[in-house]
Amino acid sequence: MFNKTLTELSAALREKQLSSMELTQAFLDRIDKYSALNAFITVDAERSLAEARVADERLVKGKAAPLTGIPVAHKDIFCTEGWLTTCASKMLANFVSPYDATVIEKFKAAGAVLLGKTNMDEFAMGSSNETSYFGPTKNPWDTTVVPGGSSGGSASAVAAGLAPAATGTDTGGSIRQPAALCNLTGLKPSYGRVSRYGMIAFASSLDQGGVLTRTAEDAAVLLNVMAGFDPRDSTSVDRPVPDYTATLDHDIKGLRIGLPEEYFGEGLSQEVARLVETAVEEFKKLGAKIVEVSLPNSNLAVPCYYVLAPAEASSNLARYDGVRYGFRAEEYSDLLDMYRKTRSQGFGAEVKRRIMIGTYALSAGYYDAYYLKAQKLRRLIAEDFKQAFEMCDVILGPTAPTTAFKIGAKIDDPVAMYLNDIYTIPVNLAGLPGMSIPAGFAADGLPVGMQLIGRYFDEARLLNVAHRYQQVTDWHARMPEGFD
Ligand code: GLN
Repeated sequence: MFNKTLTELSAALREKQLSSMELTQAFLDRIDKYSALNAFITVDAERSLAEARVADERLVKGKAAPLTGIPVAHKDIFCTEGWLTTCASKMLANFVSPYDATVIEKFKAAGAVLLGKTNMDEFAMGSSNETSYFGPTKNPWDTTVVPGGSSGGSASAVAAGLAPAATGTDTGGSIRQPAALCNLTGLKPSYGRVSRYGMIAFASSLDQGGVLTRTAEDAAVLLNVMAGFDPRDSTSVDRPVPDYTATLDHDIKGLRIGLPEEYFGEGLSQEVARLVETAVEEFKKLGAKIVEVSLPNSNLAVPCYYVLAPAEASSNLARYDGVRYGFRAEEYSDLLDMYRKTRSQGFGAEVKRRIMIGTYALSAGYYDAYYLKAQKLRRLIAEDFKQAFEMCDVILGPTAPTTAFKIGAKIDDPVAMYLNDIYTIPVNLAGLPGMSIPAGFAADGLPVGMQLIGRYFDEARLLNVAHRYQQVTDWHARMPEGFD
């Protein structure tokens, strides 16, 4: 049951092979059994089961919506009414959201059961899930290595079969990189495709909600639920939402797949390169044409991102001042001292580092040298993709340069940590849709992911390409030992 796809679970519910209460209880038991993974921050069995009961009533009446009765876990960055919503920070460790994010509303409307809130890097800053105030999450493929981040709890949960699917957010790679490190399918839609309303802001011009699933088909089912215009998000895009499941089976004969030379150079582990190249051969067999493309400014993406994302974060996180909600220092002498102590005690080291870098980059005298310069680079990076997409329909490359690393290995070396996202960050800077799908296993037994990048709002094609690959391979179907 724990390795079934959403489509399979949905069918089982409709055919009354089991009830949503039973299904939800089974996942709750499993979350408990594998609590050492630390994949969840909040589990509330009573609430989840109450939702499952309502779903069962609907199922009996034959009034099921697409996800009726299916338990789904949500990254603890999505505001959920009546649930703790912590963003894995001490700053919000006591925050119970008074409202639902649009994404949560949509899952509710589709009938899904909220299974719990997953662990993550604090305020989504990190690539390893180690910056969480609630402690690191472990990777079920090897519990001594990281699951990736920042949506590491969602990735660990789905990989270990603690949830059939989970949401994530991706500002520079936080869906795709953990998906790669945990053998999952991860989809970051185009900027503006999924509403950011109620999704706690990190870097607003880059943040995008998406999903971590077992298969591309499941990702399509969930994107159908999540995508769409939201007047409450000023950057949400008003364009029709296709049925993402309708085109999954399309033939990919003649599809032009671009391989960016910059994605296969120095810094890429040989094993990851080898597995991605093997996948390319598979795509050739499916009739795709391979073309060489170039993204000449991609080496500037990490420095560009580490000016822009902290700049936006420093502004977004200014709201955590101890006044209206969240943590407040216990002892202080006056208002300024209260702010200072609240923020010193409430934020972790990585968040503070970002706030300082961002504040510096935005300060008078440095704005032009850093922030403005980075904005210009961002445009160049977006232009690179535009040019590349004149020669190809999708871009393919590695998701992350290596397999998952040991817990503790990079936490004291921010630059080494930042380089995890070298292949994913350019996609956020350009606002394009990106996916990671399983591509095999390295000699150390750890999973490797490959990345597919599409044109603006071409999620349907990415899902189609991923689905075709998953029909001829079975990497995505493998479960970590001990969690079968
Ligand atoms: N690892 C990147 C960072 O720390 C990306 C995080 C994300 O996508 N949320 O900023």
